Amino acid sequence: MAQLRVTSKALPEHNRQHNRSLLLQTLFHDGPMSRADLARESGLTRVSVSDLVNELASEGLISELGTRTGAHVGKPAQLIGLNENAYHVVSLDLSADDRFVGAIVGLGGEIVHRAEVPLENAKGDDAVSKAVGLARDLVKRSTVRLLGIGVGTPGIVDQDGVVLSAPNLDWTGLDLAEVFRTEFGVPVHVGNDANAAALAIHTFHDPGQSFMLVAIEHGVGAGLIIGGVLVEGEHSTAGEIGHLVVDESGERCVCGRDGCLEQAIAVPHLRARLRAAGDAQREKVLADAGHSLGLALAPIIAALGLDDVVLAGPRDLVEGTFLDAALDTVRSRTLSAVGDGARMTIADDSHDLVLLGTAVFVLAAELGVS
Ligand SMILES: [Zn+2]
Repeated sequence: MAQLRVTSKALPEHNRQHNRSLLLQTLFHDGPMSRADLARESGLTRVSVSDLVNELASEGLISELGTRTGAHVGKPAQLIGLNENAYHVVSLDLSADDRFVGAIVGLGGEIVHRAEVPLENAKGDDAVSKAVGLARDLVKRSTVRLLGIGVGTPGIVDQDGVVLSAPNLDWTGLDLAEVFRTEFGVPVHVGNDANAAALAIHTFHDPGQSFMLVAIEHGVGAGLIIGGVLVEGEHSTAGEIGHLVVDESGERCVCGRDGCLEQAIAVPHLRARLRAAGDAQREKVLADAGHSLGLALAPIIAALGLDDVVLAGPRDLVEGTFLDAALDTVRSRTLSAVGDGARMTIADDSHDLVLLGTAVFVLAAELGVS
């Protein structure tokens, strides 16, 4: 969360780093512009902008893109833009239950190349080997310098990139960041898959400064961005909503509780229930599942004063009845001042969110861009 108390003095190098990031961030989100526009947008003096632009250009991060042909009289302005192929990021999405997916991503977030490897039920060290092998293939294919490697994994991941617990992959206390750093010798940033998806929404869709991303796949997870900050929690468990109990008389869950949210809405469980119920009961099953999600979300939305929830999951399940039921439940269980403003939308590119978000882990840490 945003710092409330100042605890250390600001040093000149912090200012410079901050302003570098500010310029990169401005070009990343607003596209190419002149030095004068960059000064206006950033609030920096033209002298500071010129100085930083020279530094960033010498590193190849930005480049001159020619002059703008406009209506202005006088000397045409040189446009400066982010050099999207100055570096590549290698991104890995380890969230699917049957494969690991990877990509080479440019600095602007465009996917340059994709690859995947079947998981074949690999767990433990075998699963680590598959992830490293996939990264090795992508690193070989990249034709420019590597800014770093980003990894989005299911489970609980601490700030150092240690996977504290990922039961599906049989990983406990695994320092995944160190494994990749040793292998590739580049900066490595590892985080939870739902947090990655939330960062992708924050960076590429810009839904506002506060929202919750709910990923409904093999499991159920959430990523929270509040006031423009990714909330990770005291023990890196923020967003672990999959095992909230929503129905005490529900089915037994792998975690030992009865009626967890995952039992109610995770894709394999929901599809199984739809198959068993048949077409006539389809809408009822989807409405019940949406209601379960609403039960879990209502207190979170009320506690945080959130307006926006973004759902990522198979459209044929989450669109329509499911989403409507979830939103109705949130509204019926909260004060109108809380629930009336609530909005629930579906992410368009949900299958790429983790890949793009893990690239943002790297962009944010190395360049201050997100
Ligand atoms: Zn559970």
